[in-house]
Amino acid sequence: MDFTLSKEQAFIQKMVRDFTESEVKPIAAETDRTCEYPRENIEKLFDCGVMGMCVPKEYGGAGADDLSSALAIEELSKVCASTGDIVATHNGLCCDPILRNGTEEQKKKYLWMLTQGHKVGAFALTEPNAGSDASKGTTTARLEGDHYVLNGSKIFITNGYVADVAVVFAMTNPAKGTRGISAFIVESSFPGYSVGKHEEKLGLHGSPTAELVFEDCIVPKENLLGQEGKGFKIAMQTLDGGRIGIAAQALGITEGAMEEAITYTKNRSQFGKPIARFQNTQFTFADMKVAVEAGRLLTYQAAARKMAGQPFTMEAAMAKLFTSENAMKYTVKAVQMFGGYGYTKDFPVERMLRDAKITEIYEGTSEVQRIVISSNMALK
Ligand SMILES: Cc1cc2nc3c(=O)[nH]c(=O)nc-3n(C[C@H](O)[C@H](O)[C@H](O)COP(=O)(O)OP(=O)(O)OC[C@H]3O[C@@H](n4cnc5c(N)ncnc54)[C@H](O)[C@@H]3O)c2cc1C
Repeated sequence: MDFTLSKEQAFIQKMVRDFTESEVKPIAAETDRTCEYPRENIEKLFDCGVMGMCVPKEYGGAGADDLSSALAIEELSKVCASTGDIVATHNGLCCDPILRNGTEEQKKKYLWMLTQGHKVGAFALTEPNAGSDASKGTTTARLEGDHYVLNGSKIFITNGYVADVAVVFAMTNPAKGTRGISAFIVESSFPGYSVGKHEEKLGLHGSPTAELVFEDCIVPKENLLGQEGKGFKIAMQTLDGGRIGIAAQALGITEGAMEEAITYTKNRSQFGKPIARFQNTQFTFADMKVAVEAGRLLTYQAAARKMAGQPFTMEAAMAKLFTSENAMKYTVKAVQMFGGYGYTKDFPVERMLRDAKITEIYEGTSEVQRIVISSNMALK
């Protein structure tokens, strides 16, 4: 498999890298401190076509491929995992399911809003009692004439309190189990839609996480996404693709921490020489480098398979599992290399360590990834 970037992919990578250096890096620590959604930068990412970048040009997007989206998320996450997360959710979890399952009318209306219209997207599956086992959601959707009536709530929703459009999953026929789940495109302006609790989190402070509440929420019948009863399938397919984005995010965090640690250890001397000259430091960097390169291959492989229309469920799960566990492992090691300074907010590795943890949890925990991988191995 050849992962030499195409001209377009290399262009997008460089554009996002330059943007990250000039616009994201200067405010990353402040975004973390204030827990403020980086609105201005997200607007600029709309302007330069990164938000919704895989949407075809005819619907307002840049017509980029899945690897380009992963490259963009990786670059952003090297410096600010929150910004990477906002983009990953918008692109992978909101635009993607509409693109894959929407009617022509839905695509024309909503994909245009999610690109040229600068409207932010979300994906609402998790409920208080339905996390890893997402099939146990109790939010309902009842058809009444020309509209559905949604009741229930969703928690931990990324982009929750800024989203204008959300792909929401609800039971249209509880007796049918997962075959009774349907997906809907819901606008935040629909009657009965409200935002509940804003989460205070360990990390990812710039990413707005919130509860969404549906109280007799009126959703036009034409906003059913795909067919009735196909919602669970849409959710699982969407998460397969989304995991490539989280793998890219985790990869970016590890690369960011490695770059910070290299700079620091070259400049910090103890016992008469730079810490980077101690062999234990060098060996840690060697291990980090291997983890980054292997994680990159897994992540790009999953993206390449998705682009080629090949099955990629297991590849995406492997990429997410490997990169997220390494992000956690190596941000801890980066903090260690900084000594006491690494434990303070004077250097970004402290934030990177806190941000890394979520990559092992959302879009399926590491345990869930192991279930997905092993269940694809024909062990029974
Ligand atoms: C910051 C943040 C953003 C998020 N964004 C979104 C979003 O945009 N949209 C959305 O729908 N959801 C979102 N989520 C929800 C996220 O996907 C869930 O938190 C995650 O899937 C885990 O579910 P849970 O929290 O209910 O944990 P639980 O499912 O209760 O799991 C608790 C523990 O039990 C383990 N466990 C569960 N089942 C098994 C099993 N069968 N075998 C072994 N171990 C198991 C888990 O691995 C975990 O360690 C977000 C969460 C956070 C924290």
